[in-house]
This record gives sequence, structure tokens and C-alpha cells, in this order.
Amino acid sequence: MREEFSISGWFRDCDVPLVVAGPCSAESRKQVIDTAVGLSSIPEVRVLRGGIWKPRTRPNGFEGVGEQGLLWLREAKEITGLPICVEIATPEHYELALKHNVDMVWVGARTVANPFSMQELAVAMRQSPIPVFVKNPIAPDLKLWIGAVERLMALDVCYLGAIHRGFQYPNSQPYRNAPMWNTVVEFRRFFPNMPLITDISHICGCRELLKNIAQKAIDMASDGLMIESHISPELALTDAQQQITPIDLSLLLSSLSFKAKKSSADECCLQELRNAIDNIDDEIVNLLAQRMEISRKIGVYKKKNNLTVLQMERW
Ligand code: PEP
Ligand code: MN
Repeated sequence: MREEFSISGWFRDCDVPLVVAGPCSAESRKQVIDTAVGLSSIPEVRVLRGGIWKPRTRPNGFEGVGEQGLLWLREAKEITGLPICVEIATPEHYELALKHNVDMVWVGARTVANPFSMQELAVAMRQSPIPVFVKNPIAPDLKLWIGAVERLMALDVCYLGAIHRGFQYPNSQPYRNAPMWNTVVEFRRFFPNMPLITDISHICGCRELLKNIAQKAIDMASDGLMIESHISPELALTDAQQQITPIDLSLLLSSLSFKAKKSSADECCLQELRNAIDNIDDEIVNLLAQRMEISRKIGVYKKKNNLTVLQMERW
């Protein structure tokens, strides 16, 4: 049995990376328990995930096993000591999650994209006793993501976190969803104290890219990782190409270099280098302003002398 890990306790200082791992979908009792047992021997894994209700883009795909899957996850928690988390999309899902002692929930990218659904969920989750994570919406619409979080804040959901899962965007290759790190930085500027973890599986869409993106997420000061892991990934009913076995996950995690988000002893040295960069930036901006002023004078000159804006020989 592992030592107990409290997710709400983790929210105080995010002292360790919150690694959430487990199958894209809970498919059978055996698949959930075998995967959970495999994951429980990886010390970095803190939380077991499992998709119970699967929001599929098209109908007639595997849409999840429903409440029955919560019994399997609950049993997996009893066996391994791992806290459990699931995706919820409706107030009923949230109620069922609470009924089955789920430790944390997240709202998926498709639900976050719909303000009506978010509002309904927020009302149902008022003062939620368990942490709620909000994935970024499918489209790179920062305001939609921020708005979803604000709806939950307004109803006093106090353990709130975010999950970066990449964005649907033309030319997102080689990724399934473009990471768009800048958008995530903007989100974090808006909610500086909110923990944010990175769902590397849905960003990558395939196993081969996972390691690089995991390291990149750590380098970008992510507070943790969400990674899909399945005991037999090739047989998975959803997202088969991006899931990895617990053994491969263990290898992946031990190959990563986890970093401190703040320096301690050499803070002065870092500050000196930052000052040097700030001075250079000031000079660059000044030079650009001077250049702009000359460019304006050229405009005035051309206008006064009735010259075309485009001068081919200069171009
Ligand atoms: C998932 O986590 O399995 C999932 C459906 O993710 P997303 O909402 O990011 O597509
Ligand atoms: Mn998935």
C-alpha cells in the first residue's frame, strides 16, 4: 500500500509534480485493476484516472461504461491506495462521482467549450469538496477557458486547477493538438496562483512524441502531467495510439529531468542576467522608436512630393 496522498493538500504548495495516469477509458474490471496495480508501483504517479463517460466526436463509438466503471475505479483505489479521478460533463456525472468517493474531477475540452454546460456544472459543483480541473477548450480561445474557470470561481469551487491538453488548429502536425505554449502562458498570467498540469497524451496523439513534450511541459513550469496508460494499449477501445503501458510510463518518468520552479542560492546571478537582458531590450525598443520616426518622415516627404508609397528600386 502506498503512503496516502491528499490532492487538496497538494493545492497548498504544489510541492511535487502531480502525475495523473490511467486509461483513456475504463473498459473492464480487469483492465482497470491491472492497469492500476501496474501504476501503483511507480512512485511519481499520484492519481489514477479513468474515462467513464466518453464524449465522442461522432456517435456510435465506444461511449464509456458509465457508473459501473466507478465501481472498478473504487476497487482499484482500495487495492492500490491511489486517489481516483474522472471526467465529468453533467451535474449527474458529478453527483455519481461524489457517490463513489472519487477524489478529483476534471471537465473535458468539449464541455469547457460550452458556456451553458459550464454554468450548469458550476451550479452543481458549488463549494465542491473535491478538486476540479478545467481542461482548455478544443479551440484556442483563451477567453472561453478563462470564462469556464471564472464560472466555477463565482460559485466558490476553491480547489481549482487547469489542464493544458493542446488546441485543435490547422497544421498542428506532428501533434494531435497544437501545444500553443504562449496561450498557456497567457492563461497562467491571468490566474497566477492556479496549478496547471499538462495532458501530454492528448497533445501528442501518439506514443513517440510523449517524452519530448513531457520534458517541455516541465521546462515550462507545469505543475504536473496527465498521461494515458493502459495495460494493453494496442487493445484500447479509445485513443489506442497514444496510450502506454505502466512499464513504459515508468521508463518515461525516470528519463525526465524535473526542475525547480524558483532558484534559491543563485537568485542574485539570475537577477543580474535579467537586468542585462532588460537593458538590451530597452535599447532595442529605443532604436525601433527612432527608426519609426525616420520612417514617418519619409512618409511625409513622399506625400509632399507626390511620390508613390512603393519605390521599386528601394524595395
Ligand atoms: C480524455 O481525457 O480522455 C479526453 C477525452 O480528453 P479531452 O477532453 O482533452 O479531449
Ligand atoms: Mn483519451
